[in-house]
Amino acid sequence: MILHSRKEYLGECLWPSRVAPMELLKGVHVIETYATTTLLVDDRLILVDTSADADAGKVMDYLNQIRVKPKDLSTIFITHTHPDHVGGLAAIKHGSPAKVAAHRIEADFIARKRVYDGPSGPQSHPGTAVDVLLDDGQKVDGLEVIFTPGHTRGSLSLFDASHSLLIAGDAARNESGVQPMDDRYNVDPKQHRESIKKLAKFHFENAVFGHGAAIKGGAGAKIADLAKHL
Ligand SMILES: [Zn+2]
Repeated sequence: MILHSRKEYLGECLWPSRVAPMELLKGVHVIETYATTTLLVDDRLILVDTSADADAGKVMDYLNQIRVKPKDLSTIFITHTHPDHVGGLAAIKHGSPAKVAAHRIEADFIARKRVYDGPSGPQSHPGTAVDVLLDDGQKVDGLEVIFTPGHTRGSLSLFDASHSLLIAGDAARNESGVQPMDDRYNVDPKQHRESIKKLAKFHFENAVFGHGAAIKGGAGAKIADLAKHL
């Protein structure tokens, strides 16, 4: 191997799993692994989603880089039970008193008390108990729960008024423009589209998606435009 620069050496060899810091807005970190994990650092310390099993180390490396300890997290929200959102939960939650919060319909799938019957097939993540069962419209830690079923049975999105921010989960994606998720992964495609129309009624400027780039400025207009064409 030819070393082109000291920087390249450090980047490739010493920190192979390092995820570049990405602060979308002050206090809103977007950790891009297979599926996006969002970290809110203000008067709260909140994680939303935990990526895939294999990515738990990357999420913890990121926390370490910005000097956040998993034991200091107050709440870990899980938007839905798909493996690329819930897979890292057990490892990140290990040894942390953080509460786990999810929609009440999704809780038994996350805990593996019930077999999930939608795509993408049977689950294999280690079950983790859900401490806070969420309902539509409820506010927890300043985040408003928006029940957005259709991608999975108990999917949710979160609205953070203090940052004019929607954390969409997989209620929509932004991979080549803002779109619904691929219907191969939606348990109820029609309900998934109704959920996008529901999101369009909220007023927000910024958005983080489970898949695709986060949007800073004008995000609500893009969701509203998509909703009009569904
Ligand atoms: Zn999903």
